[in-house]
Amino acid sequence: MDDVRSCYIDGAWREGGAADVVVTSAADGVDLARFAGAGPADADAAVAAARAAWPTWAATPVTERAAVLRTAADLLEKRADEIARTAALEIGTPIRMAAGIHAQLPAAAMRDVADQAEAFVTEEQVGNSLVLRESAGVAVAITAWNYPLYQFATKVIPAIAAGCTVVAKPSELAPLTTMMLTEALEEAGLPRGVLGLLIGTGPMAGEPLVAHPEVDVVSFTGSTSVGVRIGEVAASGVKRVALELGGKSANVLLDDVDVATALPASISSWLINNSQTCAALTRMVVPRSRLAEVEQALLKDLAARPVGHPLDEDTQVGPLISPAQRERVVSYIESGVLEGARLLAGGAERPPDLPEAGNYVSPTIFTDVTPDMTIAREEIFGPVLCVIPVDSEDEAIQVANDTSYGLSGAVWSADPERALTVARQLRTGQVTVNGGAFNLRAPFGGYKFSGIGREGGRFGLDEYYETKAVQL
Ligand code: NAD
Repeated sequence: MDDVRSCYIDGAWREGGAADVVVTSAADGVDLARFAGAGPADADAAVAAARAAWPTWAATPVTERAAVLRTAADLLEKRADEIARTAALEIGTPIRMAAGIHAQLPAAAMRDVADQAEAFVTEEQVGNSLVLRESAGVAVAITAWNYPLYQFATKVIPAIAAGCTVVAKPSELAPLTTMMLTEALEEAGLPRGVLGLLIGTGPMAGEPLVAHPEVDVVSFTGSTSVGVRIGEVAASGVKRVALELGGKSANVLLDDVDVATALPASISSWLINNSQTCAALTRMVVPRSRLAEVEQALLKDLAARPVGHPLDEDTQVGPLISPAQRERVVSYIESGVLEGARLLAGGAERPPDLPEAGNYVSPTIFTDVTPDMTIAREEIFGPVLCVIPVDSEDEAIQVANDTSYGLSGAVWSADPERALTVARQLRTGQVTVNGGAFNLRAPFGGYKFSGIGREGGRFGLDEYYETKAVQL
């Protein structure tokens, strides 16, 4: 177990002033790191350093800012194996996919942000006005534990690229890889004060940042309940806010679907990162006429996805982040049984032959789920799939939209035009048609209770600029 200093402020690492934070392994509960967490005084110091560094960084040419980010992306990628191992233990991500999603994807996003920032239009003539896009000032980035570096790549990196200075607070449950990114940025030559890192709890380190009068922009990724609180605190200081929140995304199979093509991709989208994914497709809306066939295919595919230790190369589903998260997921499985859903696979029992101290849950599929059941309405954030049978395309669309969330979704049909017509009717920030590939440059964000604002490409950069009109 390493001794870690939790705060990077004004270019130096130091201990925090709040109670200890302990990072534990998802696989067996062993402590991975312990440190004095960041507290309100650390938040003050980090914001002061960011405010002092801002005028010079904002005036630094975008090409120089982008160059630092590209160098840091290369340095980060060199540590991909170490990052993968750390994320596998902290978060439970199976090692076979950990380097891709926790190191290579963030590095690719960083390079793309650098390109997009250089291409961003910061001056435009509109009639007799010169419209200027100016760096918005000091930004705060507060992130969740499920994709720590990707979330930094879509908040901290665009903010820096746009000439903002940033204080970042990762989740205290999985902060270790964000320290590696901070080191990479430092080694790449990022001037002191441009990035501060505070590892601490939400109430001790996060909320003082959101409330701080010297902060201009707050970007948050996490649960809807905390997002609402952050929105309220930020509103009292009239700060700009972006909120990336929870989801309960629907995967709509139309009645002409090719099950053999749709199912493997659908299951991968449901189980990615052990279903600890905001955009996971956790509701499968299936024509009743195809239900038996889909159920059979689900069972066959799931049998080929072993649950196991995250460092085992064969593992496809690892443990959840914490004992609390495991208990929460198990209680949702129990509620599904109680409310009358039919258990097709998995259940509340621990998967066999895995350590009791690990946060393992069997991937669980409920079928004959109705839209009013708790498991169909609330975000579970664990491997529980709800199969909801419907009798028509109109009902499928109505069921898909019958949620307070609106983050993602998918449609499958043998006829791409038909699938696109359905996609247009879904009230959600992203929709994938017939397994369309993830696109770093596409806007990502939520309708309804899934959030405010967009990340990704030029849409994400937009959050970190202010707009000024000069009449000539
Ligand atoms: P969470 O809301 O518990 O915590 C998120 C962050 O907020 C953490 O860093 C936490 O310390 C901090 N925090 C908590 N209380 C705070 C407060 N009062 N003030 C300031 N900061 C505070 O979420 P989580 O459990 O870390 O992550 C899971 C949630 O994140 C899920 O709901 C998931 O859907 C969502 N999520 C959304 C996206 C997206 O892009 N929409 C991406 C990933 C995760």
